Amino acid sequence: MVTYKCFKCKSKLKDEELKKRFVCPACGSKIFYKPRTKVKKVKAE
Ligand SMILES: [Zn+2]
Repeated sequence: MVTYKCFKCKSKLKDEELKKRFVCPACGSKIFYKPRTKVKKVKAE
């Protein structure tokens, strides 16, 4: 599952939600970006 973020209102949208129509339900924007899902953690050993 992929989570997208609306470029305009920053609301999170799931992949399946966007498949229906690529429009943000909150603000109607059509610009999305994929935020990093994995946060890199640096281990200090
Ligand atoms: Zn939006």
